[in-house]
Amino acid sequence: QEEANLAARTRDDLRCPVVVIMGHVDTGKTKLLDKIRKTNVQEGEAGGITQQIGATYFEKSTLLTQTAKLNETEKFELTLPGMLVIDTPGHESFTNLRSRGSSLCDVAILVVDLMHGLEQQTIESLHMLRKRGTPFVIALNKVDRCYNWVTCKDSPIRDALKVQSDGTLQEFRSRASDAKVQLQEQGVNSNIYWEMGDDDWTNSDFVPIVPTSAITGEGVQDILLLLCQISERKLWRQLMWCANLQCTVLEVKAIDGLGMTVDCLVVNGYLREGDKAVFCTLDGPIVAEIRGLLTPPPSREMRIKSEYIHHKEIKGALGVKVIGNGLEKVMAGTPVMVVGPDDEVEDIKAEVMSDLTRLQKKLSTDKKGVMVQASTLGALEALLQFLREETKPPIPVSAIGIGTIHKRDVTKISIMNEKGCPEYATILAFDVPVPREAREHAEEVNVRIFTADIIYHLFDQFTRFMDELSEKRREDAAAVAVFPSICKILPQHIFNQKDPIILGVEVLEGILKVGTPLCVPALGGLHVGIVTSIEQNGREQETAKKGLSVAIKIVNESNPTITYGRQFDASHSLYSTLSRASIDALKSHFKEKLEDEDWRLVVKLKKVFNII
Ligand code: GDP
Repeated sequence: QEEANLAARTRDDLRCPVVVIMGHVDTGKTKLLDKIRKTNVQEGEAGGITQQIGATYFEKSTLLTQTAKLNETEKFELTLPGMLVIDTPGHESFTNLRSRGSSLCDVAILVVDLMHGLEQQTIESLHMLRKRGTPFVIALNKVDRCYNWVTCKDSPIRDALKVQSDGTLQEFRSRASDAKVQLQEQGVNSNIYWEMGDDDWTNSDFVPIVPTSAITGEGVQDILLLLCQISERKLWRQLMWCANLQCTVLEVKAIDGLGMTVDCLVVNGYLREGDKAVFCTLDGPIVAEIRGLLTPPPSREMRIKSEYIHHKEIKGALGVKVIGNGLEKVMAGTPVMVVGPDDEVEDIKAEVMSDLTRLQKKLSTDKKGVMVQASTLGALEALLQFLREETKPPIPVSAIGIGTIHKRDVTKISIMNEKGCPEYATILAFDVPVPREAREHAEEVNVRIFTADIIYHLFDQFTRFMDELSEKRREDAAAVAVFPSICKILPQHIFNQKDPIILGVEVLEGILKVGTPLCVPALGGLHVGIVTSIEQNGREQETAKKGLSVAIKIVNESNPTITYGRQFDASHSLYSTLSRASIDALKSHFKEKLEDEDWRLVVKLKKVFNII
């Protein structure tokens, strides 16, 4: 009862929820956002939808008209003042954003292509949402691609399904159930939202699915109403408007005539012209006076006359462009705070920097490692976490950055070449632009830049590169590395006495490998030649293990006159010729190819060859 009273009292004071659209590329995120915006415009409702900075605002009245048909049956009493949808349909960049410890986005739409099911980026998004505890709905998009789909423009999805033929319905059901199974495989319980039981609704881990078409609009009403219902029923505490400023940087960009501007999302509280604000940069906090607060003009006609509307004060939730001096290095995804009359500026600075400081602290352990660059602090954090915790072995990171990759970043990481680890002279760039200048510079100083907008792909590229590199190194090392072996000559199997020597041997110890130089330590280390082939029962082998009898060919280019029966004979054993360098190469590149007893032989041979 107390809860209900509190809820009733605060109803008037709810802020609008911040919604983010996520999903794999090409699932229809952009189209869905467009559709949500346009459904209304086409019905001639000019007002009710406001283009803000970085977000689109839907007034309550708009939400009501847009969901009117569906709500005839649902009869949901909407109390939210509206809804704010972030414009850049994205991924981790936005979902992982936080401001003062709480998630910037309140609720998410995860778009899944009905025809393709779960894709890599969807899975990444799923895990991210789960980790952040953000409620979400799944838009199972592109229902209109089902065979023979009958279009029911912008109608509630159940009405649309009612008019489809049995065949179409069957296809839809089978694909939807595939998606459900795939979600289950990711540990997500879900169901078509109207088939969910009461228990499912109270289970906060249960995810409702809404079939949609972003092209013909079926199910868009359902998505909107569902988002409203979830926001009000599950999130009302979090949505209680609060006067403490909660503001996050979405993007930093240069605008003609305005200089560097910072696009912010003010979720709670106020921003005022003249406020002393603290921003976060890689080089530390900066304090700047807010010189202007801008939003786009409300209608298209006005857009021609004036670029922006200026405000003295902004009240959350709202997307706004902030102008001020020295904002060039402000990082996307970081919080903005205002220094109040009772505040210590140093405390505010520390708080603004806290997320970044935490990340940097974790980094300070890796002296050698790649550079990681991402579009926002949230994306950077997600990426670092992936590299540290979900890759095996973890990829070390020595430097981080946010936003466009500059020449100076390339220079910075090129130091890894001098530090003897060229593999780390690499930038993993997630969802950020790489200007030509930076790319060219990277070529000059031997820095690789891998770009992707799916974390997993970046990781893939880097591991592939590392595999190639270690393969190449192994090849290089193979010329130097020598596998340890001792062989007994089988005197009844001498096929050719010299140039080349071909004879039968039994491997007494170790591994005999093609390419191995052989010698007779008993004869002062007489160099017999290099093994160029090994045959067992008429078949070519790369190696022969202890206990095997094989025929080998030995070539001695520097001394072709060396002859079995003259300088050496079956009373002598043949040894792999080891050196300090060959042992080092063996250790660093073939460690896993040798057994313990082979390593013991290496130790023994070290004594034979007097290697220190
Ligand atoms: P995004 O990469 O997730 O933003 O995907 P887009 O919105 O750019 O859409 C990718 C492609 O899928 C485009 O060619 C769209 O026209 C198409 N598309 C998106 N939604 C739908 C849908 O509901 N039905 C059909 N048939 N095509 C769609």
